[in-house]
Amino acid sequence: MGQRSSAEHRDLSALAPELSQSLLAWWELHGRKDPALKPWMFTKDGRWPEPHEHLNVLECWIAEVMLQQTQLQVVLPYWTAWMEAFPRLEVLAGADEQAVLLRWQGLGYYSRARRLLAAARQLLTELRPVGEADPQSWPQELDRWLLLPGIGRSTAGGILSSAFNSPLAILDGNVRRVLARVMAYPHPPMWHQGLFWSWSQSLIAAAPERARDLNQAFMDLGATLCTPRNPACASCPWQSACAAYASGSPDRYPVKEAPRDVPFQVIGVGVVLNQAGQVLIDQRLNEGLLGGMWEFPGGKQEPGELIEATIARELREELAIEVTVDQALICVDHAYSHKKLRFEVYLCTWCSGEPQPLASQQVRWVQPQELGAYPFPAANARIIAALMTHLGLPALDQSVSG
Ligand code: SF4
Repeated sequence: MGQRSSAEHRDLSALAPELSQSLLAWWELHGRKDPALKPWMFTKDGRWPEPHEHLNVLECWIAEVMLQQTQLQVVLPYWTAWMEAFPRLEVLAGADEQAVLLRWQGLGYYSRARRLLAAARQLLTELRPVGEADPQSWPQELDRWLLLPGIGRSTAGGILSSAFNSPLAILDGNVRRVLARVMAYPHPPMWHQGLFWSWSQSLIAAAPERARDLNQAFMDLGATLCTPRNPACASCPWQSACAAYASGSPDRYPVKEAPRDVPFQVIGVGVVLNQAGQVLIDQRLNEGLLGGMWEFPGGKQEPGELIEATIARELREELAIEVTVDQALICVDHAYSHKKLRFEVYLCTWCSGEPQPLASQQVRWVQPQELGAYPFPAANARIIAALMTHLGLPALDQSVSG
């Protein structure tokens, strides 16, 4: 940790009562209180809940997990389709993992969907017999939620404050950015998360009976005014207290980590067709960012290796098949936060060997028209579209993105 400056010692708890009140007053007028935008935040008769009222816990939970890496407007159609498919905990807990991944397709970070499923199965065994429809039968203690897969402190705080109005803070990207600016925090926020948690909690402690509203207001402020670029300080309820605004250049905050080099890799991918016109796909192991998703087989190009040789080698090593590598189908660049990939995709003809899942969960020959029934990561959507065009087949209804 770097040397501490006076900004780190600025006492937010002294400001908290005023900040909480001005934030709530702003939110009453300008908050995103639209049932069409955040249906999980409303009572069944379409009202914003009173402090003593409880909301549907499953709906709040699914929304919080979807919102972890994704903006509200993007989440809404996914949330709606998800709640139609899995309207109750027992339906979700009993669902097939493929069905769950398909519903998540396009939201990215697929481990979130698999952890949701695992958590639903775990929770189902723990709920009291009164039944899940009654919010009271769900756990209301932060510690119990933290034991579930995929639930961190901010997600748990979001679920419990939304559903039960529990006086728990959140610390998502919006909240972190706003706090870093109000306090003009001179280091990357991740350097001292504990300090940010204490700031967020002090705002809740100033009006604990309004925890639900405060957390929503905090997120709305970050999403609508205190945006990553060009914050709308002229309309902000916290302008007079904001040290970043006083500095004259609020978007210098939050201070960023020094950029690091992102590794670049070329991946050779084989779209292998057999004589029956079927295409070969495999399902990734249940680990990492894209665990459980389906994909076209392939792997990393070795230094000095021709891409055709990469593809033939990878298919031999990972599927135990021999192919001829034919023409290039498409080249797709895709950037993740930690690496950039270039997929060099070639059409291949299967020659010999029964495909074996040597580095995957399973392999399958499928008709190209059936590919839409399998969850694929984003980079594969363009490959599928190129394949359908090449084969002269109609485009599939693919919503893969992100
Ligand atoms: S004054 Fe500007 S920088 Fe400060 S919290 Fe408000 S919008 Fe953000």
